[in-house]
Amino acid sequence: MRSVLPRFAKAYVENSNFEIADFKEFLQDGRIEIHLSRIPEKPIECYRCGSPLQARRGKHRMRLEGLPIMGIRVFIFLWREKGDCPKCKKARAERITLVSTETPHLTQDYAWWLGRLCEIAAVSRVAELVNLDETTTWRLDLARMQKMISCYKIPPITRISVDEVYARKKPKHPGENRNARFFTVITDLDTRKVIWVTEGRDEASLDAFFTIIGKTACRKITVVAADQHDDYARSVRKHCPGATLVWDRFHVMQNFEKALNEQRKILHEEFRKNSNLSELTRGKYRFIFLKKDSRRTEEERRHIDEIVKDNDQFLKLELIKERMLTFFDQPDMYQGRRVFHDVGGWILEGGFKELELWSCPQLNVHFLG
Ligand SMILES: [Zn+2]
Repeated sequence: MRSVLPRFAKAYVENSNFEIADFKEFLQDGRIEIHLSRIPEKPIECYRCGSPLQARRGKHRMRLEGLPIMGIRVFIFLWREKGDCPKCKKARAERITLVSTETPHLTQDYAWWLGRLCEIAAVSRVAELVNLDETTTWRLDLARMQKMISCYKIPPITRISVDEVYARKKPKHPGENRNARFFTVITDLDTRKVIWVTEGRDEASLDAFFTIIGKTACRKITVVAADQHDDYARSVRKHCPGATLVWDRFHVMQNFEKALNEQRKILHEEFRKNSNLSELTRGKYRFIFLKKDSRRTEEERRHIDEIVKDNDQFLKLELIKERMLTFFDQPDMYQGRRVFHDVGGWILEGGFKELELWSCPQLNVHFLG
């Protein structure tokens, strides 16, 4: 054994029942082994409750992997004792702080490091990076998340957003309700952090969240941003008497663009009958119509110019779109209302039926209501 041990090796046995018995370097194999031996006089404690273990029930050999050093893998070998715990009234393994609480194959520090990596990258990529089995990494991540959630508390909230995300593409069992394939994700709008997730995407999914936080917390909620479906709205009205329901930007714009595109299709059909330029308004160019003018390339701009040059309706459609795109950049509510007012007026003026269908609910509920 070497007389001078590296600092990191000593750190592994600090404040423990063990001392280093052997330190071996197999640098050609990219591996270091640290063999530990027990300090006999130290008491052995239950890993669960910390009581001293009584009658011994045997021991088993452990091989732990630690945080690699300069690309060299580190393995720690020791014997773990088992004994009767008077408090748990069971045979229990001894407490060794060095061992990760999530898996008996890794040290605490290495497990923590892998967990941090899993927070910022996909589990499969982390497994690939550190050369670990994907299932092991997945289990470690799951155990870590379960531990985190067991001591997680939903923070106090006043403004939240609610949205759905796909949980899985395929049903779990045949005939599964489509809603069950979604999660409802609740985000704190002030901290921009996800604070809770429930299964499904219907009224009951959001009800579940409000039930967890309780009536007092619900009363403190002033704003809920959600998509335009009725399920979430019903739940908010039921539980949060003081909350204003706001449609979120993404869904408002998504519906606007859908209506805009429907309108383009109708104009294209009319255009086709009496113009030789109708090729330019076909569906394959729809993305140019929906694009903000400042983001268009020179060529796309020429394309649009060509169309609006002798077609008033396309020109109006273009104006409506450009004005609507400035809506969320307005500095205050007054300016916001003006945008809506302009857009609504132009839609009526142009007789754009598809856009009218879109604008009526928006105007009634939010700006005139
Ligand atoms: Zn115990």
